[in-house]
Amino acid sequence: MAKVPKYVYFFGSGKAEGKAEMKNLLGGKGANLAEMVNIGLPVPPGFTITTEVCSAYYQNKQKYPKSLEKEVRVALTKVEKAMGAKFGDAKNPLLVSIRSGARASMPGMMDTILNLGLNDKTVAGLVTKTKNERFVYDSYRRFVQMYGDVVLGLKPVNKDDIDPFEEIIEAKKHAKGVKLDTELTAEDLKELVVKFKAAIKEKTGHDFPQDPLVQMWGAIGAVFSSWMNDRAIAYRKMYDIPESWGTAVNVQSMVFGNMGEDSGTGVAFTRDAATGENYFYGEYLMNAQGEDVVAGTRTPLHISKLKEQDPKLYGQLDKIRKTLEKHYRDMMDIEFTIQQGKLFMLQCRVGKRTAFAAIKIAVDMVGDKFISEKEALTRIEPDQLNQLLRPIFDVKEKDAAVKSGRLLAKGLNAGPGAATGRIVFNAVDAEAWKNRGEKVILTRIETSPEDIKGMDASEGILTARGGMTSHAALVARQMGKVCVAGCDELLIDYAKHTMTVKGKVLNEGDWISLDGTTGQVIEGKIQTKPSEVLQVLVEKTLDAKDAPVYQTFAKVMQWADKYRTLKIRTNADQPDQAANAIAFGAEGIGLCRTEHMFFGEGKIGPMREMILADTLEQRKAALAKLLPLQRADFAGIFEAMHGKPVTIRTIDPPLHEFVPHEEKEQRALAQAMRISYEKVKERVEGLHEFNPMLGFRGCRLGIIFPEITEMQARAIFEAAADTQKKGIAVEPEVMIPLVGNVKELVNQEKLVRKVAEDVMKEKGVKFKYLVGTMIEIPRGAITADEIAAVAEFFSFGTNDLTQTTLGVSRDDAARFLIPYVEKEIYAKDPFEVLDRGGVGKLMEIAVAKGRATRPGIKLGICGEHGGDPSSIEFCHLIGLNYVSCSPFRVPIARLAAARAALLNPAEPAKKAAKKVNKKAKTSHKK
Ligand code: PEP
Ligand code: MG
Repeated sequence: MAKVPKYVYFFGSGKAEGKAEMKNLLGGKGANLAEMVNIGLPVPPGFTITTEVCSAYYQNKQKYPKSLEKEVRVALTKVEKAMGAKFGDAKNPLLVSIRSGARASMPGMMDTILNLGLNDKTVAGLVTKTKNERFVYDSYRRFVQMYGDVVLGLKPVNKDDIDPFEEIIEAKKHAKGVKLDTELTAEDLKELVVKFKAAIKEKTGHDFPQDPLVQMWGAIGAVFSSWMNDRAIAYRKMYDIPESWGTAVNVQSMVFGNMGEDSGTGVAFTRDAATGENYFYGEYLMNAQGEDVVAGTRTPLHISKLKEQDPKLYGQLDKIRKTLEKHYRDMMDIEFTIQQGKLFMLQCRVGKRTAFAAIKIAVDMVGDKFISEKEALTRIEPDQLNQLLRPIFDVKEKDAAVKSGRLLAKGLNAGPGAATGRIVFNAVDAEAWKNRGEKVILTRIETSPEDIKGMDASEGILTARGGMTSHAALVARQMGKVCVAGCDELLIDYAKHTMTVKGKVLNEGDWISLDGTTGQVIEGKIQTKPSEVLQVLVEKTLDAKDAPVYQTFAKVMQWADKYRTLKIRTNADQPDQAANAIAFGAEGIGLCRTEHMFFGEGKIGPMREMILADTLEQRKAALAKLLPLQRADFAGIFEAMHGKPVTIRTIDPPLHEFVPHEEKEQRALAQAMRISYEKVKERVEGLHEFNPMLGFRGCRLGIIFPEITEMQARAIFEAAADTQKKGIAVEPEVMIPLVGNVKELVNQEKLVRKVAEDVMKEKGVKFKYLVGTMIEIPRGAITADEIAAVAEFFSFGTNDLTQTTLGVSRDDAARFLIPYVEKEIYAKDPFEVLDRGGVGKLMEIAVAKGRATRPGIKLGICGEHGGDPSSIEFCHLIGLNYVSCSPFRVPIARLAAARAALLNPAEPAKKAAKKVNKKAKTSHKK
């Protein structure tokens, strides 16, 4: 015979049938009530009806399983025994509360009924027992009201309708000339009960049920029904909670916090949920019920006050706090009630906390020996580190700003952190304003390489267009700047120096604030708090020993490094960026974009000369001017990196990005080059391309103009030779971009190797170097076996690989990708989080094919995904050697890599590689 499932679980008298692990069956509340009983904490006895009953109830036309009634009866008898009282007994009545309790917390979404079991007879018993007639009638009138509203459906549906019971109370108060409920006497309350019951009879045609068992089944039904109320359905949708989970129902004996001055109720966290500090944080009210604490009509007291008021009780509560933390090995959120000096626990669950607190608590709990280092690492979400790494807003001030309607718009959260400053609309103004001591936010439709210095001078960058890998986004991240990109709602008028959003016009010089972590743009100034970690590591204005937050951070990093297998490099093209990255723990440079260097001091002139040259000689003359400048750049980077590997990419962007498009600047260039303005204009127009991202860029430039690659290779190797001569080790890796056909790489590799040999001879030194390529277009990935015959390393350029695989322009995507994500076409912006199913598949193929040809090939990623935790996990799974990300993301990547290793322990990297390898080999034979 099939075993009848158990539907009811008793808890009380020091022993419970359930436990914490049974959350799915008993709901969060029920499972934790059972657990608290099992560890000896004082919990009012009761029982939990399982979530399976809820599911059965809905599957079976709202009927309960047959065996339920008997199980409830048995459990109720146990509760009666434990409490020494009887349900419905006129002399010594047991009262219960009926509450919902789903697997995931759904605060306030479902119904609750308190004081159940009161009727015209049991009130008398309770009066004798408590000797407090007013209290008893207040409880009775609350119960009738709650029951009427929740179970009998008298609660108003429309916002404007009045609760019939409230109407009666108001009339009574008016008649008595009082303002507060507490001013009503026992006699008044008695009268209210009579009127409430009459109202129920009038509205429903039935009497208020006097039989406690009828009351109880009515309430249980109401709680199960509330699983399907509109609020609960909406909440479940929002938080992805499946309907099939159902809710449990907890029937628990009542304890009262409003039985006089020796009674009370409170809520607390076992540590501070905002800062993570290890002290008891909570609030309580004497002579009150839970709803009084939440309602805010009386100001609750800080828990430390209880220590003065009742040291014994406080001591008991503090001991419970320690027991709970030790048992659950986490920070807990608790609810308690004191009834006539006796303490009862009504709820406990793992407490919600800020990112800041999450990190501190995880680290402190390792110190407390509650959890291991590994567990601490898996409890911290890598992105939470941003809270420690970046300046953050004063939370209260920001909340107040948003509440008062100052939120202007929301864009992409492209560069995390908080920035506040005055609006400027171009890079030149940004620099000028900064020089006179102003804080500015550079506000552009989109940014281009020309804006780099202005971006550097700004606190934050705001753009109306562009996605997560647009110029603004990736340069801002590399600089460690706050950035909100692709904020479609902004109408920026450069000529008028205004920005219009939702009809509001903001002018140059107006204050705005950017929250780069959420993408919010807020009107006005908001205080920011500096990051202790930055002050220690980057600004070097604070000593580590005076910086507790830094110390916490350093511990997390130290542990992360123990467990990760991926190496972490950085994307940097200036010595200061490289130095920052090293301070954050980078182990090399994974991408130095040489084109960013051309906008540095003195370089843009010769660069433009080179682009506008008519003849090879002219071009070589311009390149000769660039050579010493680039060499100095590389030497600076090699020195900063002290022997760590440095991947330097030859020029990549289309040439139009380097020439001026405004007449004024074109005229200046013509003058400097001693040619006519018309000629400059004509040449610039000649560089126009309909789709420059798929145009004359990447290795195509070096193939058509080999002298550019030669100059860059010479600058790299001469700098390497000079640095090595100074006694500093060097490890240059020359990277050719946008290779889709091995012949492109062969062409460029030859040039590079020839220059390397020449330089070694000329300088009389030998140095090691590698030549490799980016895998950033699908053909490159698919023919990776051929490419690996030449390339000594691959670096996945997942910005372009995403763009070309999805056929989605990285600079124009924000407009439709945001709605795409809302419509769940992509779960996340694929320029932020790697599209494993598409782009990821190409990567797997390239990894397998690359390793098949060259088993020891070095494999990395340098697209923006190299700093995204989920994408880093994917890189770990497919067996890359390193990820490379912007300097400020290095700590996030270190933690993400450690978590990837800890959470995927079965060496799936090798397995996955084997699997794809096999496939790749078979397809090769065909
Ligand atoms: C890439 O395409 O992923 C990449 C790193 O190169 P860039 O962003 O400079 O095109
Ligand atoms: Mg690229």
